[in-house]
Amino acid sequence: MNIRKKINLLEQNVINQIAAGEVIEAPHSAVKELVENAIDAESTEIRIEISKGGKELIKVTDNGMGIAAEELRTAFLPHTTSKLRKLEDLEKIESLGFRGEALASIVSVSKVEIYTKTNESEVGVYGVFEEGNLINCKPMGCPNGTTIIIHNLFSKTPARLKYLKSDGVESSKITELITRMALSKINIAFQYVNNNNIMLTTRGDNSIQSVVETIFPRELSSSMIAGKEVDVLNHGEKISITGLIGQPHATRGNRSYQVFFVNNRLVKSNFLSKIFEAAYKDSLMINRYPVGILYFSIPSTLIDVNVHPAKTTVKFFDEKIIADLFTEFVQTNLFQQTNIVTSGLTH
Ligand code: ADP
Ligand code: MG
Repeated sequence: MNIRKKINLLEQNVINQIAAGEVIEAPHSAVKELVENAIDAESTEIRIEISKGGKELIKVTDNGMGIAAEELRTAFLPHTTSKLRKLEDLEKIESLGFRGEALASIVSVSKVEIYTKTNESEVGVYGVFEEGNLINCKPMGCPNGTTIIIHNLFSKTPARLKYLKSDGVESSKITELITRMALSKINIAFQYVNNNNIMLTTRGDNSIQSVVETIFPRELSSSMIAGKEVDVLNHGEKISITGLIGQPHATRGNRSYQVFFVNNRLVKSNFLSKIFEAAYKDSLMINRYPVGILYFSIPSTLIDVNVHPAKTTVKFFDEKIIADLFTEFVQTNLFQQTNIVTSGLTH
């Protein structure tokens, strides 16, 4: 027999833990949130260190604007953000974050240490969060910027921990993510260390080539074409596409080297992949996928990036205009000229 149970209001920390599942589903989502925060803080150097697939440790250090000591507690509460004030701001949001959920979610499912210092303050501050609460906070000499260390993600929520994949699989997801972020922010010097091995270093010298050469396998990077930008006006606003695309013989067996940025935001898009592949027409072998790194600049009125909390998807309000321009980009650059990459293209 079912006994009717009383309706309770959940405790705040339980609410946060449940909500955390939306934002932080695995170590790679925590890494993504921390690195996005570092980018939003205008960092020029970001170092990411993980161990055991990020389950044991995730440490992100940046040289960005830091958090003021008096705002430390607030920054880690749910729905606190410096990036959005009113609903209208969402229309023209340029930061990667705006929901104010990430830090609160992270501290609800792990122990977190933070060192942070702003430019204006003489000393920095060190804080420790456990079960969502700031349990230790003291002044600390540290460089400008922020270091956040996540210990034992999900150790307090065993059901979630069990759902994680092996260390190897989780760390390869993080590697893929950081690779893509390094490609998206070529003005930032990234360093990524996994179990004490340096996996990736970029210079942050603003050159697509330099990043592609450090990240893409040599046989791909050496045969990519630096595309000439195409653009079109839509109600007076410019839509443009630029980037590097692989020649038809330099393909892969999957889509992992198709990298799309929309307004500098990395997105996954089956729609864009399909247009990309169709534009190669018959020049691709069966089951082979073209490679490329494409930068779309689209007026914010024509897209919705707010379709998923993790913000890796994007909705195009006018798919045809994007499809036509993308096809033109690929076909003019592939079939009408062969300006093979030498050097110098910047983004
Ligand atoms: P959101 O990024 O959506 O604003 P977060 O929970 O990720 O929410 O962060 C809350 C706030 O903490 C940010 O709005 C920002 O002001 C501050 N913050 C977080 N990480 C950093 C960082 N690395 N450097 C400077 N400020 C940060
Ligand atoms: Mg954030």
